[in-house]
Amino acid sequence: MEGRQGIDDLLPADACSRPAVDPALEGKPIGPVWSAPPAPPVRHGLLTEAPRTDKSAVAQQICDVMRLMYQHEFVVANDGNVSARLPNGNIMITASGVLKGFMTPDQVIECDPDGKALDGRRVTTEVKMHVAAYQERPDVGAVVHGHPIYAVAFSLAGISLAECTIPEIIVTMGSIPTAPYATPSTYDLPDGLRPFLRDGDAVIMERHGVVCVGSDLFDAYKKMEMVEHTAKITHAARTLGVVRPIAPPGVQALLDTRKSLGIRTKNNLCEGCGAREVCAAPLYPD
Ligand SMILES: [Zn+2]
Repeated sequence: MEGRQGIDDLLPADACSRPAVDPALEGKPIGPVWSAPPAPPVRHGLLTEAPRTDKSAVAQQICDVMRLMYQHEFVVANDGNVSARLPNGNIMITASGVLKGFMTPDQVIECDPDGKALDGRRVTTEVKMHVAAYQERPDVGAVVHGHPIYAVAFSLAGISLAECTIPEIIVTMGSIPTAPYATPSTYDLPDGLRPFLRDGDAVIMERHGVVCVGSDLFDAYKKMEMVEHTAKITHAARTLGVVRPIAPPGVQALLDTRKSLGIRTKNNLCEGCGAREVCAAPLYPD
């Protein structure tokens, strides 16, 4: 390789023996020292009580409910949406396109009663469903929507969960009807839901998800848990054999219990679905 210099020829003779860092500076900062800000307090538990006038508390509750929905696999990724109605009629609702299991209160948006964001941000495309629920039910303070696996699977298979099989459901919610399929995010969906929401607090939307309404966020959320739990129990029972409905006198006794507890749901069992003979006529018409 005559006539060409190697890299060693270009370096001073003592290059390899020289330390890369001046020993006098080693371990010392080269400029102003940056230190991380103190970590925010880690939140454990849920904010279950909050005055409806306290918007930041309501926003935190929405995040708490959304996190519970994610933990229970009622939603994944950006699925689902949760809202609460403020005393002035405005709606606090989850933003569009956010990871719902990890929401922060700044991702909750205040809308007018028609679902239009006050600050121009993009709310969930399913806000129409929430608006419809509030319009149909002046008693409702919160709406919870998710895509729970078992409840939706039953609708894909075309199997109704509105049968009189589980006493707790008959007493608390009457039944769990399924609304016919409608394209998500269109007006067909809320319009198809309206008759079901008028009479009941929980509805499965065929091939899509579940919507539950309640007096407050946790009341609505609890119904979502109950719907999915019912779907899981029914699924387990169907793998074991034929699901046997409660006999008409038993249903009647549960309805008496419901009345004595003062539960006002108008969902008279299978009035909407016609699943059972005993339910063909409303037992307690309003
Ligand atoms: Zn949905």
